[in-house]
Amino acid sequence: MEYPVTLEWTPCALGGRRAWFLCPARGCGRRVAILFGGSIFACRHCHKLAYQCQRETDDDRAMRRAETIRRRLGWEPGILNGEGGKPKGMYWRTFERLKAEHDAFVGVSLAGMAQRLGLMDRQLLGLDLDLDDLSRG
Ligand SMILES: [Zn+2]
Repeated sequence: MEYPVTLEWTPCALGGRRAWFLCPARGCGRRVAILFGGSIFACRHCHKLAYQCQRETDDDRAMRRAETIRRRLGWEPGILNGEGGKPKGMYWRTFERLKAEHDAFVGVSLAGMAQRLGLMDRQLLGLDLDLDDLSRG
């Protein structure tokens, strides 16, 4: 299935903007940081209702693992929201390793998402996600 997924942008308290997905499920439209895959893309709420027993796909798992790393690094949730800095007290080596893992998971996640959405936008497939370019496109 192909259908559009809308992105919405909100200003951040500290300047800049953050990206949200609007849940594409019928009658939902929740603004969420994370969409879950399967035979439809939807927010956690809708997805749970519709696909409670469905197996997690590779790119779902990649997104979940990327989010786990983001939490550990103290970064904003949502893989569209770019990267934060190194947390205080974390060794650079640890940080670099986690960041590399994060980027790899984001790559897998976005590639899978792009494939299933039919959204073959290079900006979404690239690991170096440029949010400004994304919003203009
Ligand atoms: Zn929803």
